[in-house]
Amino acid sequence: MRAQRKKRVKFKSGKIYTIRRISALAILFLIIILLFLIFKPKRNTKTTDNLNISNTNSNTQTESENNVQNSTSNNTDANNSKENSSIQEDATFTMAVTGDIMCHNTMYQDAYNSSTKSYDFSYFFEDVKQHIQTADIAIGNLETTFAGSKVGYSGYPTFNTPEILAKNLKQAGFDVVSTANNHCMDKGYKGIESTIDFLDEADLAHTGTFKSKEEQEKILIKNVKGVSVAFLSFTYGTNGIAIPKDKSYAVNLIDKDLMKSQIELAKKQNPDVICVSMHWGIEYQTSSNKEQKNLADFLFDNGVDVILGNHSHVPQEMEKRTIKLEDGSTKDGFVIYSLGNFMANQNKKYTQDSAILKIQITKHKDNGKISIDKVNYTPTYMYKDTSKKTKRFKILDIDKEIKLYESKAEDAVSKSLYNTLVTEKKNIQKIIGDEI
Ligand SMILES: [Zn+2]
Repeated sequence: MRAQRKKRVKFKSGKIYTIRRISALAILFLIIILLFLIFKPKRNTKTTDNLNISNTNSNTQTESENNVQNSTSNNTDANNSKENSSIQEDATFTMAVTGDIMCHNTMYQDAYNSSTKSYDFSYFFEDVKQHIQTADIAIGNLETTFAGSKVGYSGYPTFNTPEILAKNLKQAGFDVVSTANNHCMDKGYKGIESTIDFLDEADLAHTGTFKSKEEQEKILIKNVKGVSVAFLSFTYGTNGIAIPKDKSYAVNLIDKDLMKSQIELAKKQNPDVICVSMHWGIEYQTSSNKEQKNLADFLFDNGVDVILGNHSHVPQEMEKRTIKLEDGSTKDGFVIYSLGNFMANQNKKYTQDSAILKIQITKHKDNGKISIDKVNYTPTYMYKDTSKKTKRFKILDIDKEIKLYESKAEDAVSKSLYNTLVTEKKNIQKIIGDEI
C-alpha cells in the first residue's frame, strides 16, 4: 500500500512536474508570441523609420550642403558687394565671344591717318559691333602686344600694335580680353607689363598675363546681371621666347597643376560660372585634336563651365556637354575649340572666317545652379577691300550683308563678295556646327 502510494505519489509528482513544465513552456511560448506580436510591427516601423531617417539625413545633408554653398556664395556676393546674394528670380545673361584679335602690319598701316598722325581701328568693327555691344558681357582673345610706340610697331612675327586698339576694342563693346597666347611675349616681359598698363588705361579687363604673383592669384571675376563669372586664360607656349625664370607668374601656361590651382583660387570666391580661354590646338585645322579634347575633359572635371578655344586661325567645332558631378547630379558645360580669326590679315583657306558667339546662361533661383540655355552665332568675314587705298579692312556681318545684297540695298556688297559670303557662311556653319 505504502509502496503503491509512494508509487502514486511518485507518479503524481512526476505528472505534476510534467504539467508544470508544459505550462511553463506554454507561458514562455505565449510570452515569445506576445513579444513577437508587440515587437514585430515595431521592428517594421523601426526599419521604415531607419530608411526614413537615412533619407532625411541625406536630404538634410544635401540641403545643408546647398545652404552652405548658397550662404558661402552669399558671402562672396557680400564681399564683392553684388546684388545676387539670394536671387528672387532666375538671372539670365548673354556673353558675346570672338576669336583672335591680331594686327598685321598691313592693318595698322591701314588704320593710320597721315593728317592727324594717329591710328584708329574703330571702322574695323563698324559692321559687327552691335553684336558685341548688345551682349551683357563680351570677350575676345587679344593676340598682340601694346609695347608702346618707342619700341616700334610691328606685325608678324613679333607683334606690337598701336595701343589705341585697346580703346577701340572697348568702344566696340569688349569688356574682357584673354592675353595668354603664343604672341604675348613678342616684346619680352616689358611688353607684357606695357600691354597690361594700356588695357587698364582703356578700362578693358584682362586675364592670362600678369605683372606679379599677387596679380596672377587674384582671379578676374565679373558680376554680369547678378551672376558672378570668373575668367581664366592659358596658352600652350610663347613661341620659344623664354619667360624670365624669376617671373614665371607672367604667363599662364597650359600646365595641369597651374590650371588646377587657378581654378581652385577661382572657386574660393564662389563664382556662379567659370569661363576659361584656351590657346591650344593645331594651326589651320578645322577640328579639335585629342589633346584639346583631353584638356576640355580635364577642365570640365575640375568645375569649369565654359571653354573658349582659340589659336588655330580657322574655326573649329563647338559642343554642349552634360557633366556629371560627384554627388550624382548633372550640370551644363560648353566648349568651342576655336573661333578662328576675328581680326587678322591672313589669306589661307578659312582664315577670314569666324563668328561672334552669343551664349545665354541662366542662374536658377531654386538651386543656385547655372544652365547654358542657348548658343547661337553671327558668322563674320574679315574683308579687305583692295580697290581702296585706306580703311580697307572691315569685319563683315555675313548675314546682314547677304540680306542687304538680296534686298538690293544701295550700299550692298558686290556680286563677287556676296558669292564669297554665301560660300563662307556655309563653311563656317559646317565647321562650327548647328546652333545650340
Ligand atoms: Zn596663337
